Formats: sequence, structure tokens, C-alpha cells
Amino acid sequence: MKKRIIILGTGFGAFSCLKELDADLYDIKIVSPRNHFLFTCLLPSTTVGTIEFRSIIEPIRNVKYAQYIQAYCTSIDKTAGKINCTDADTKKDFSLEYDTLIISVGEITNNYNIDGVNEYAYFLREVADARKIRVKVIDCFENASLPGISEAEKKSFLRFIVCGGGPTGVEFAAELHDFIVEDVKRKYPGLEHYIEIILIEAGNKLLNSFDEKLSTYTLKIFKRQDIDVKTNSNITKVTKNEIFVNDGSHFEYGLLVWAAGNTATELVRKSDLPKNAKLKIIVDHYLRVTGEENIYTIGDCAEITDEPYPVTAQTAQRQGKYLGKSLNKIAKGKEVKPFKYRDLGMLAYIGSHKALANTNQYKGSGFVTWLFWRSVYITKLVSLKNKILVLFDWFKTFVFGRDISNF
Ligand SMILES: Cc1cc2nc3c(=O)[nH]c(=O)nc-3n(C[C@H](O)[C@H](O)[C@H](O)COP(=O)(O)OP(=O)(O)OC[C@H]3O[C@@H](n4cnc5c(N)ncnc54)[C@H](O)[C@@H]3O)c2cc1C
Repeated sequence: MKKRIIILGTGFGAFSCLKELDADLYDIKIVSPRNHFLFTCLLPSTTVGTIEFRSIIEPIRNVKYAQYIQAYCTSIDKTAGKINCTDADTKKDFSLEYDTLIISVGEITNNYNIDGVNEYAYFLREVADARKIRVKVIDCFENASLPGISEAEKKSFLRFIVCGGGPTGVEFAAELHDFIVEDVKRKYPGLEHYIEIILIEAGNKLLNSFDEKLSTYTLKIFKRQDIDVKTNSNITKVTKNEIFVNDGSHFEYGLLVWAAGNTATELVRKSDLPKNAKLKIIVDHYLRVTGEENIYTIGDCAEITDEPYPVTAQTAQRQGKYLGKSLNKIAKGKEVKPFKYRDLGMLAYIGSHKALANTNQYKGSGFVTWLFWRSVYITKLVSLKNKILVLFDWFKTFVFGRDISNF
């Protein structure tokens, strides 16, 4: 009889593992509340309509050799070798048995227990989040266009605050800037003088994981783009219309996007698997959870004891691919080598057709790097359909501008 594998999640780690696993060797189930793989690297581009949502997702049911179950795993019963699940829609509870469990549930956005963040800030992790942001951005412009609106109200509606100077916050601010320059000026004439983008970062620089020169370059470009970067600043409280900063300042806002860091999911938090101070599950060099025979963890929620890797799509993808191949070898009784990571570097879009590349061989920025950024992501998109859709979206945006219809 084939051994039963359960994969938790449909993100980068899970999806690349699934693609490698041999269904002749294993009976494969995949459990996740999200019935699609999401190419998060291009998610910021969807928040203003540069790219459409469906162009960067891949339905998991396209993978015919695995059984997909739309549910959250709520707990892991290691002794009985089963997981307990709940369907988010019907709230039906059930359990599933496994011989091998692969945990790739990623992380969630960290609100640092700051008052009002969960209620009023917009997160950017899923398609649903990007969709909410897109609707809200347009609403801000429509609200500011209403008759009888005072100057002060216009300024408040059109003050966009981004919390977090990592790649997600920077890329969102960049996309918003492009939208304002390329579309708002034509579609909402007269409002451009009221718009303000403020990026708030707790550290002393943007893009902490990038080379110092690239971080400084981003600051220079953002200054030119009128993006007001406030480093060494913490938001201490959020209300419906206002944020409060630790230096005593406060700002009314139209939209607050929160991209200030990650933390463990409830499943990982509650589980009795070994975790480190960052609440990541500790694994060995074979990605097996320390002290467990048949439980593996990959991606953002895992960390190899003595070798922490960058928390990126690339890491999750490589670990997923390695694990899928290793498990095939194990089923055939072959020897498995430990996981070896090779860092290919990072890319980020910073607006105005400029990007950054922070690789071992090349550290560059500007227009040519932007072309490189686009070509890399086109090749990394998982299906031919997505590649064609994204190319088409870029072409459509270039020729006709972004669609500002709200629904
Ligand atoms: C907006 C944004 C932009 C990014 N841009 C880049 C980039 O340009 N380059 C880069 O390298 N990285 C980027 N990242 C980071 C990258 O997306 C992550 O490092 C990567 O997705 C991690 O993969 P993962 O498989 O660990 O988790 P994820 O891809 O986050 O997948 C987690 C999966 O687990 C599921 N899940 C959660 N809880 C449960 C549960 N209890 N039971 C079952 N399933 C569950 C989720 O629904 C999801 O399917 C970006 C992230 C975001 C949010």
C-alpha cells in the first residue's frame, strides 16, 4: 500500500514540493484554506491594477494527482499520526491520518499588538487583501472628489500611509506612486497636489536585507518621487482615521497599509513541535522536525537549527523541491543528501520603471535592472497561462492605463 503524505499549505514551499512528489509512490493529500497557489512577488502590482489578480494565481485542483481539501489544519496529533481540520466555510471538523506530514503554512503579518491595527489597517498577503486595498485606493480618490469637501478633508483622504520599509512596503509605495503619476493625474485632475505617501519604518534604513548602496539609492528615488520616508519611527496606535507615531506626531489618513513583519500562525504557535525564539519550527539539514521521524517543515515557518536562511519565496521553493525529491528517494530506499542552500539574491521594484537587484554576482539598480526584474518574474511564474496573462496586463497598463472601476 502507498504511504500517505499530507501537505499543509498551498504556498511556495508546498506547491514546489507537490510538483516533485511521485504519485506512484505516495497517496498525496494537500490541506489548505486557500485553493490556489499565489505568486506573492507580484502581489503589490495588483493593488493598483498594474496586473490583474487572476494572472498570478494557479488553482491547486489543476494538479490532478493529489487530493485537495479546502480547510485549516487546527492541530497535529503526533501520537495518533493524524491532523485535525476545520473547514472555514461550513465550520465542519474532521481529521485525516498521515504517514508523513509536511508543514508549509507560512507566517502571518505581525501587528505587534498595537491598538487598532487589526481593525483599521490593511494587510497585504493574499489576493483578498490586495483586492480590498485596490477598492479602498479608488474610494479615497472618489471621496476626495465629492462636492463640498474641504481642503483638509481632501488631504486626509489622499494621505496614504505604509508601515514597514521591507520589500512589501517599498513595492506597494512604488506601485502607488506609479498609479498616481500615470493614471490619477489624467483621471482625477486637480487632486494630485493633495496626495501624500508616507512610509514609516522602525529601523534606520529601508530594505534592511539589501546592500547599503541599494538602500540609499531607494531613499534617493523615493525622495524624488515625493514619498516621505520616516525611519526610526514606530506607529504606537491606530484609530479609524488617524495614526500616532512614537515621536509625538499624528496623521489623519485615507488608507493605512501594514507590512511591518511576520509572525507564526496559530497552528505553529499552538503546536508542541520544537520552536526557536522567532517561533519557527526547528528542523535538521534534511528539513525534518527535530526529534520527529515523519514530520517535515519548510518555508517561512521553518528554520534549520544552526543555519537560518532568508525568509523568501526562493528559500521556500528550493526547500519544497528538495523535500519532494528526497521523499521520492526515501520511498525507493535510496540515500538522501542534506539540503544545501544557494542564495540567488533578491529583487525589488521601486517605482518609475526602476528596480533593484541584490545578487551575489550583480548589485544594480535603475531601468535596465527593472527590465531584468520583469524578465525574472515572467520566467518564475509557474504556468504558461500566467506568463501570458502577466505580459498582457503589462501591455494593457502601458497602452490604456490602469482600470479604476470599483466593484
Ligand atoms: C506581498 C508580498 C510580496 C512578497 N514578495 C516577495 C518577493 O518579491 N521575493 C521573495 O522571495 N519573497 C517575497 N515574499 C515572501 C514570500 O511570499 C514568502 O517567503 C513565501 O510565500 C513563503 O512560502 P511558504 O510556502 O513558507 O508560505 P506561503 O507561501 O505564505 O504559504 C502558506 C500556505 O499555508 C496555508 N495555511 C496557513 N495556515 C494554514 C493551516 N492552519 N492549515 C493549512 N494551511 C494553512 C496558506 O493558506 C498558504 O496557502 C513576499 C510576500 C508577500 C506577502
